[in-house]
Amino acid sequence: MKRPVGPPPRGPGRQCTGTEAARGNSSPLLRATRGKDGFRPRIPVAPLAGPYPSGVHVSVSTMTSLPAAPAPAPLDEAADLAARLLAALGFDLTSSELAATPGRMVRALKEMTTPPTFTATDFETTAEPGQLVLVRDIRFVSMCEHHVLPFTGIAHIGYVPRKRILGLSKVARVVHHCARRLQVQERLTGQIADWMVEHLDPAGVAVLLSAEHTCMTLRGVGATGSRTTTSSLRGVLLDDPAARAEFMSLAVSAP
Ligand SMILES: [Zn+2]
Repeated sequence: MKRPVGPPPRGPGRQCTGTEAARGNSSPLLRATRGKDGFRPRIPVAPLAGPYPSGVHVSVSTMTSLPAAPAPAPLDEAADLAARLLAALGFDLTSSELAATPGRMVRALKEMTTPPTFTATDFETTAEPGQLVLVRDIRFVSMCEHHVLPFTGIAHIGYVPRKRILGLSKVARVVHHCARRLQVQERLTGQIADWMVEHLDPAGVAVLLSAEHTCMTLRGVGATGSRTTTSSLRGVLLDDPAARAEFMSLAVSAP
C-alpha cells in the first residue's frame, strides 16, 4: 500500500517510535490482532528506534490532502504585531505586568496551531472480516478559525480493517495531528476520516466528534455547556446500516 511521506507541516514536531505502537491492549472492543514475529520498518524514517517486528510498517504522518501550515513568521516580528494589537485594544504595554505578554501570546498561538508530526505505524492483521476497531474518548484541543479561540472535545474513531491496523496510540495522534491548526469542527471530522482511508485503506471508517466551542460558550451567545457533534462515515460504516449502528451504539454507550 502506498503511503505518503512528506516533511513536517511546520516546526520540528514530534517523532514517535514504532515500538510504542506495538504495545498490546485488552479492550474487548479491540479485537484485531497484530503480527508478533520480528519487526521491520517498511519506510525507514529517522530517528526510529528499531528493530521492528515483521509486518510493521512505519511512515511519517503527513497527509497529502491536509493543507500545509503557513510558513512561520519570525517570532519577534509576530510579537511586535501582537503588541500593536493589544495596544489597539487599549492595553498599556508599558506596564511591567504586560511587557512580556505579546511574546507569550505569540508562542502560545504558535504551539496551538502547529500540528505535531509522528510516525504512523501499522500492522498486518489477522482480524476476522468485518471486525470493528473502536478507540473512544480521545480528548483533543483545536482552534476555531473564525475567532482564533479554542474548542475542546472528545473523538471516537472506529474502522473496519481490510489488511492493516494502526497502532492504537497512533489513532490519538492522528486526531491531534489534524486538530492542532486553525480549524472548523466539520472539516476536522472529515480530515481524520480521510487520513484513516489514505493510510490504512480500511473497509470502513467512522469518526464522531463532540466539542465545546469557547467562541459560543464564553462570548457571543454565551451558550454555556452547549456541545456540537459531527460525524464522518466512509465505506461499510456509511453504507451498511448494521455496521453503522454497531459503531454508534458502542461509541456512545457507557464503558
Ligand atoms: Zn468560532
